[in-house]
Amino acid sequence: MKKRKLSVVALAACLLVACNDSDDVEWGKEGDVPTEQTFEDAQSLSDERASIEDETVEEDRDNPKEVERTDDAPLSDDVSKSHAGEADDNGYVAGIELPTDPTYVDGVLLASKRYPLPADFNPGEDPEARAAFEEMARAATADGLELVAFSTFRSYDYQVQLYNDYVARDGKDAADRYSARPGFSEHQTGLAFDISGPGGIDFGTFGETKEGKWLRDNAHRFGFILRYPEGKEHITGYMYESWHFRYVGKEIAPTIYEKQLTLEEYLGVE
Ligand SMILES: [Zn+2]
Repeated sequence: MKKRKLSVVALAACLLVACNDSDDVEWGKEGDVPTEQTFEDAQSLSDERASIEDETVEEDRDNPKEVERTDDAPLSDDVSKSHAGEADDNGYVAGIELPTDPTYVDGVLLASKRYPLPADFNPGEDPEARAAFEEMARAATADGLELVAFSTFRSYDYQVQLYNDYVARDGKDAADRYSARPGFSEHQTGLAFDISGPGGIDFGTFGETKEGKWLRDNAHRFGFILRYPEGKEHITGYMYESWHFRYVGKEIAPTIYEKQLTLEEYLGVE
């Protein structure tokens, strides 16, 4: 019974596009039932998200692989041309297909509505990211806080099942507002960590909790960035997600944090 309740809450978490559900949700300890987060609450957030879908899409996305860019140029010609506007489809490039290879820019793996992953890209949770999370959690503990990674790696196959279920239930347009299509979730990289405090999460207010604030101010020290910052929706394609952190490594996370950039801005891609 309890397990089911937790799953429902986790599902609500995952209504928020980049965060599509996991059967492996585990909360900090027995009895820590998260505060109730209704489907409707998450849906309303998703609806907000739907209104900020970006207008800029790219037209040539048959086989996105390594994207070249010059060192300091904000955007290379190749990349900017490839993103020339064309009608989009719920924030996705119309007709976009999954590539045969994942996209790395300057060695950083990208996963977004414009840079999907191959269906067979199935790395599992990244061990380095996990170790960094554990280190971060210990630091938080030293500050009197507890961090819980409630959803990390999610496979393509799982996303297929989940997305199809949503489409069958609510229709494609509605499903696209709260669920990433298979191949488009950053969680498939194994580098995305959805993090809460103990006792679950209220997605609308997590950023204002002590854990949320601590993460915002400290995650970069451990190689994580807040992947979908507030006010950058038009760049990331996703609404602010105070709980979704992406491991990029300690080399670049501090720069991204200090300059208040998105990963897209840092890498010079759209
Ligand atoms: Zn997430």
